[in-house]
Amino acid sequence: MEPTRNYNIIYEGNEYKTVMLNIYSTEEFEKEYTYTGDDLGAVWSKEKTAFRVWAPTADAVKVNLYEEGTEGTDDLMEQLSMTADINGTWVAEKEGDLNGTYYTYLVEINGEKHEACDPYARTTGVNGKRAMVIDLSSTNPKGWEDDTDPHAGMTYNDAVIYELHVRDLSSDASSGITNTGKFLGLTETGTTTESGIPTGLDHMKDLGITHLHLLPVYDYGSVDETALDKPQFNWGYDPVNYNVPEGSYSTDPYHGEVRVEEMKQMVKTLHDNDISVVMDVVYNHVYDASKFNFNVIVPGYFSRVDEDGNYSNGSECGNDTASERSMVKKYIVDSVKYWADEYHVDGFRFDLVGLIDTETINEIVEEVHKNHPNVIFYGEGWTMDTTLTKEGYKLATQKNSTETPEFAYFNDTIRDALKGNIFDTSEAGFVSGASGLEETIEQCFMGLAQDWCTTPAQSVNYASCHDNMTLLDRISRSTPNASREDHIKMNNLSAAICITSEGIPFMQAGEEMLRTKPKSDGGFDENSYASPDSVNSLKWDTLDDKQYQDVYNYYKGLIAFRKEHAALRLTNAEDVKEHVKPVDGLDGNVVAFQIDGGVNGEVSNGMFVIFNANNADVKIALPKGAWDVCINGETAGTEILETVTEGKVTVPPISAMVFVKNDAAVLCVRKK
Ligand code: CA
Repeated sequence: MEPTRNYNIIYEGNEYKTVMLNIYSTEEFEKEYTYTGDDLGAVWSKEKTAFRVWAPTADAVKVNLYEEGTEGTDDLMEQLSMTADINGTWVAEKEGDLNGTYYTYLVEINGEKHEACDPYARTTGVNGKRAMVIDLSSTNPKGWEDDTDPHAGMTYNDAVIYELHVRDLSSDASSGITNTGKFLGLTETGTTTESGIPTGLDHMKDLGITHLHLLPVYDYGSVDETALDKPQFNWGYDPVNYNVPEGSYSTDPYHGEVRVEEMKQMVKTLHDNDISVVMDVVYNHVYDASKFNFNVIVPGYFSRVDEDGNYSNGSECGNDTASERSMVKKYIVDSVKYWADEYHVDGFRFDLVGLIDTETINEIVEEVHKNHPNVIFYGEGWTMDTTLTKEGYKLATQKNSTETPEFAYFNDTIRDALKGNIFDTSEAGFVSGASGLEETIEQCFMGLAQDWCTTPAQSVNYASCHDNMTLLDRISRSTPNASREDHIKMNNLSAAICITSEGIPFMQAGEEMLRTKPKSDGGFDENSYASPDSVNSLKWDTLDDKQYQDVYNYYKGLIAFRKEHAALRLTNAEDVKEHVKPVDGLDGNVVAFQIDGGVNGEVSNGMFVIFNANNADVKIALPKGAWDVCINGETAGTEILETVTEGKVTVPPISAMVFVKNDAAVLCVRKK
C-alpha cells in the first residue's frame, strides 16, 4: 500500500474509503515517516543553502526561488527539483550566498500541484506568503552574544507577569512614543506624557514587573501587512507562520530581515531594562486549516480531521492541532526551542493548552530547559471537547496538572472568586461584596485552588487579562450603585490579594492605571480582539490625574513588597501548609493569614495579612508582639506606615492590611 494514495476497500459487498487521515496516526506510518533531524527548512551558509521539507505523501517537490517576497510578483528566478530522502523528507541544495532570496515549495500530490510557504520559514515577505533564506547571525543586535534572561536562576514563583499587546503600549498619542504600534515602540526610553509622567518601557520598568508577556508576535493572518496605513487591530490568535515575527509590528514587512532584527532589538532592550520576555504561542489551532502551509504540503496532517473531512473544533476557531502525531509534536517542540534559542525568549504562554497532549508539553519543557533552565511555561488549561486521532493520550488541562509538573496554569478559580464569574458579568465576587467565598479565597491565597491545583508553582493568579472585561469595568458592571471611590477600593483589594498570594501573579497591562474599555452604548467591550486602537490603547495621560497615579503607586508598592518577602513566593504545597496559616473565627467576607518568618530567604520574622471585603470596619486581634503596617487600603510598599502592638486592629471597609513582625534586627535591614 502506498501512503500517497487513497484507497477504496470492498468488504462483504460494502465499499469503505481508506483515507490518509486514518493512516497518519498509525504506528506503521509513524515508524516509517518520522524524521528526527534538525535541518528542516532552509539552512543557510555563505557557500550554499540546503533545503529539506517533510512531504511523505508528495509525488514530487520543487523549490521556487524568487527575487521578492510578495505573492503574485512575476519574478521566479529558478526552480530546484528536490530529491526524495529519508523518512518522507525531500532535499535540494543551491550553491552560492542565498541570504535574502525568497522561496516556496511546489508540491505535487495525486496529480495536483500546490504552492506553499515553508512551515519552517525563519522569515517571510509581506503577509507571510513567501519564505526567505536568511543569515540569522546578520540580524543580531549589538551585544547579542552576551544577552541573557535578567531573571535567570529565579523560580516560577518569583515572576510578576504583565500582559501586553504590542500596539497598546504606543498607539495612544499620549504615549509620546515614536514607533507607534511597532516592536521598536517597546525599545524607547525617556518617553513621557505632556506633563512628564513616564510612559511605555520606563513605566513597565518602574512598576517592577519581571516578565512582559506579549500577545501573539509570531506572524498572524488577520492584519493585512500591505495596508498598514489603514486602521487595523487584532490580538493575533490566528497563526500563519509559527517561526516568523509578525510583519505589521516591523517598520518594513516587505523585507524579511527587518522583522527579525527589530524583534531581537526589542528583546535585547527589554533584557537590558531588567524585563524578561514571554511569548503568547497559539499552537492549538491555525488561522485557516485548509490553507495552512503544513496542511497544504501534507494534506490534513497538522489538524484533527475525521474521515469525512470534518475538523475537530474544541478551540472554536475552526480546527484543532493534532499534537499527538509525531511530526506535529516535533514541529511544536522545534518551534518553541527556536524562539528560546534564536530570540532569547524567556517564557511561553500557551493558548488553549488543554487541546495539546501532555507528552508534547513535557517534551517541550524538557527540550527547552536543557539549554534554558530559566524559561517559564504556563497556559490555559481549560477542558475542551476535542477528538484526538490516537488513543492513550492525556490533555494538558488544569485537572491533569500533576502530569505536567513544570507547566503552570491560569487560575480561573481566583479570577472568578475575586470579581465574579466571567459568564455572568452582573455577578459580584469577593472584593465586590459577594458572600460565601472566604474559603475559596483562602485556598487560592495559599496557591492551592481546590479541585485542581496541588502546588503554588502551577498557579498563575490573576484578576484580569485581555479576554473579558478589564478589572475596573467588571467591578463597575457588577456594582453599578457603588461610588467611584469604592470601585477603586475593590480594584486595589483585588490587586492586594492577587499580588501577595502564593503562586505567580499576572495582570493585564493597564490594570494598574484603572484601564477601561468603554463602548459607545454605555457598556464595556469584553472581547476587544478586533476593536480599534481607541478602545484598546493604554491611555497614558490618565496618569496625570492623582487618582490614577495613586492606583499605579499602590500596584508598584505591592510588587515591591512581594519581591522583598520570600515567604510569599513559596514553591511547593508542603512549605505553604507549614508556614501560611489561615486565621479562624473571623467575620464574614474577611480572610486573614499568619505567615511565619521561618522561610529560607525571608527577611522578616513573620507577617499578618488581612483582607476585609465588607463595606464596614472590622476589628481583628493581632497575635502577640509589635507589628509594622506596610500595606493598607491606600498605600503599599516596603516602608513602614505605622507600628501597632498586640490587641485589636481596625481594618477599614474594602481594604487589605499587611503587617510585618516588628523586630529590631530586621528593622535595620528594611528601613532605608
Ligand atoms: Ca501577518
